[in-house]
Amino acid sequence: MLVDAHCHLPGGTGGTEDLEALLDRARSAGVQGFVTVGTSLADAHQVLAAVKAHKNLQASLGVHPHEAKTWDSATEQRLSILLGDPDVRFVGETGLDWHYDLSPRETQETVFRAQIRLARRFGKPLMIHTREAGEDTLRILQEEGAEHVRGVIHCFSEDKAFAARALDLGFYLSFSGILTFKKAQAVQEVAAWAPEDRILVETDSPYLAPVPFRGKANEPAYVTYVAERLAALRGLSFARVAELTTRNLEALCGWVPSS
Ligand SMILES: [Zn+2]
Ligand SMILES: [Zn+2]
Repeated sequence: MLVDAHCHLPGGTGGTEDLEALLDRARSAGVQGFVTVGTSLADAHQVLAAVKAHKNLQASLGVHPHEAKTWDSATEQRLSILLGDPDVRFVGETGLDWHYDLSPRETQETVFRAQIRLARRFGKPLMIHTREAGEDTLRILQEEGAEHVRGVIHCFSEDKAFAARALDLGFYLSFSGILTFKKAQAVQEVAAWAPEDRILVETDSPYLAPVPFRGKANEPAYVTYVAERLAALRGLSFARVAELTTRNLEALCGWVPSS
């Protein structure tokens, strides 16, 4: 049994495709559980509705750094109501994106800090997005006491030094289709080296399809390609990687999909 630890499903930012058909394709491939991720308050309601309507879906709700400019006190208040729902397992995705800079950096930082505080208030782990902002992300996690709730570095694309510091804070590293890209040696090296009780797999679908689907639409069924690559890099069987990553997600957020 495999779990996709981070995907965006139809209905939210994930497009308009039929959700049940997409989940069926994933189940046929052996993917049984899904953490579906919101990126804004507008998105959050749709994500939560999908979680309530389908089996073995859980939510991560928060405001993505791209959307940080939409944050105000009303957002915080409404988000905090949704975070009380037991099917919401993570706060995020939240973090910093210095690559696209779609929200002003100061705003991204303020909104990131506010969501770490929310995570601590609700005792839920964080779902972290960081791009070209590794140093600042780690510093803020540290300053805000994120080690008390821990979380996931989603779509891991940093180096070993970053990984070591994130692991020290109790965080888990979630590997995506990037692991299958030829030029991703630094990420592959981390995937081979990271402690086996801290690794996860995800698609980040509909983005970042793994080889051999690179450039096409991604979907949760393809997390099998990520798990296969991870297994090869670590010299483990596919079944062992499936078991490990499912157990790791449970250890972090308390949820395991039912069979
Ligand atoms: Zn992200
Ligand atoms: Zn995402």
